[in-house]
Amino acid sequence: MRYSEMFLPTVRETPSDAEIASHKLMIRAGMIRKLATGVYSVLPLGYRVVKKVEAIIREEMDRAGAQEVYLPAVQPAELWQESGRWKMYGKELLRFKDRHNREYCIGPTHEEVITDLVRNEIKTYRQLPRNLYQIQTKFRDEIRPRFGVMRCREFDMKDAYSFDIDSEGADISYQKMYDAYSRIFSRMGLKFRAVEADTGNIGGSFSHEFMVIADTGEDALIFCTKCNYAANLEKAEVAKPEKKAVNPSAFLALETVHTPNVRTIEEVSKFLKVKPGEIVKTLIFQADSKPVAVLIRGDEEVNEAKLRSFLGCDILELATDDVVLAVTGSPKGFAGAIGVKADIYADDSLMNMVNVVMGGNKEDYHVRNVNNGRDFQVKAFADLRVILKTDPCPRCGSRLRFAKGIEVGHVFKLGDKYSKAMRATYLDKNGKEQYMVMGCYGIGVGRTVAAIIEQNNDDKGIVWPMSVSPFQVVVVPVNVNEKTLAEAAENLYGALRKKGIEVLLDERDERAGVKFNDADLIGIPLRITLGPKKLAEGEAEVLVRKTGKTKSLKLEKIPATISGMVKRGLRKHP
Ligand code: ATP
Ligand code: MG
Repeated sequence: MRYSEMFLPTVRETPSDAEIASHKLMIRAGMIRKLATGVYSVLPLGYRVVKKVEAIIREEMDRAGAQEVYLPAVQPAELWQESGRWKMYGKELLRFKDRHNREYCIGPTHEEVITDLVRNEIKTYRQLPRNLYQIQTKFRDEIRPRFGVMRCREFDMKDAYSFDIDSEGADISYQKMYDAYSRIFSRMGLKFRAVEADTGNIGGSFSHEFMVIADTGEDALIFCTKCNYAANLEKAEVAKPEKKAVNPSAFLALETVHTPNVRTIEEVSKFLKVKPGEIVKTLIFQADSKPVAVLIRGDEEVNEAKLRSFLGCDILELATDDVVLAVTGSPKGFAGAIGVKADIYADDSLMNMVNVVMGGNKEDYHVRNVNNGRDFQVKAFADLRVILKTDPCPRCGSRLRFAKGIEVGHVFKLGDKYSKAMRATYLDKNGKEQYMVMGCYGIGVGRTVAAIIEQNNDDKGIVWPMSVSPFQVVVVPVNVNEKTLAEAAENLYGALRKKGIEVLLDERDERAGVKFNDADLIGIPLRITLGPKKLAEGEAEVLVRKTGKTKSLKLEKIPATISGMVKRGLRKHP
């Protein structure tokens, strides 16, 4: 490709609305332009990268035995009513009506459509297992689109869906996708972790998120420094403390203390001269509208995802002021467990605590020396809190590390959630009707491109890994008005292309500095510079973008040497 012919509008200034490197650089390198909030056009340079990313995904999906389909973006409401998600999905679902007043949505995901297709076509166990995938447009009306294509509203997703005769089969399908994802992201040169993730309320299911490690990531994750345990912070299990026998003779007498206007843990801690860890917070939640009281240490936080799955509810919210008043008899800030009109659940870390400080369920009062069993009754202890940096690994007890990550992929064992709701069944060997067992597997294409940039950039611009780079080599004659330079560049361009190398020839009549800056900005891994001095000796200079190292090579040697460098670059992430 010739630079002068390419639609490649690079920008020197940093765009004012971009916060993170990938967003800034995708605009500056002329890869994307915004059309509307969370809606982007992809320009030629960007689309070259997208196609490389998609090609890697396709290769690995095909290799894992999945078959490509292409499903409609427009989906009828009836399917979503059948699965129960028409109501559940909320405002992220873009709904509309056609001229006959029929309701539709633009698919944010395709479980309903694929389940409908498969239930109509697959009848017996002999036709299973099947894994179908597509790369296709999704629309999600995100509440806060940001970071360019990282969290946008219209985006391309690779989504795959597996159908098996039983749970064991589904586990095999899941593992195949897990392995394929590992290969996909390795080939893109990404540093990533597959972490255990929350599955909401789908019984018996599990899921992993593929997280690209980056400080700008929106997700928090933990991983063990010794064993394989890694989890989304939301899901990370806390090691259960050992249960000790509590001796009621150690219980001290209850003491009510007047604590005017002392509400927060810090205020209580200061006022009563106790550590935050010796105070117990009582939080009132509404779980599908039913109030529950949750006890947690003052220095810890309730993990709402864990609480939701523990309670098995769909909607979990902190109780409104009215409910707090009705349940505890006092305004917020003084809730305690004694006499509370709701079931009481406590985090495991309270199992062995005695003589704690708590809210008094009365405005401006707290109580000391409160004890479970004597003053109130915990219905169940469970792991309900957010893991802390000081916690040991729940599997092996070693130290944990915390990191930020970008979720680029998600593999999910769905079980029979959709096949039951939508009656996707098959006849087993005995002619008996059974539900198919499903899995779903997504990769955000644009988000993956952005994540690659987050991990591969410097102050000059993007530094593409060879496997996804829009071009493998850029050839830069420093002055196209010098005939010998221009000719040598043309010759080299031809010779490299003959070798099957993807070359950008920067034959623009621009200063060398401008061309170098653009080459650095758009991140081409190898640059060949043709200058008068070197050319007089029959040589050109090869620069490796990532290391900044240069070497001079004889012109006739360049095609073979560059071809070797490109191949090695591609092999690095097999
Ligand atoms: P998130 O928690 O970031 O909103 P999600 O759990 O909603 O993601 P999935 O439903 O699992 O995402 O979608 C599969 C993949 O699609 C994600 O792993 C991500 O790569 C991509 N994706 C999801 N939402 C967006 C978005 N708004 N913009 C770009 N890519 C997205
Ligand atoms: Mg989402």
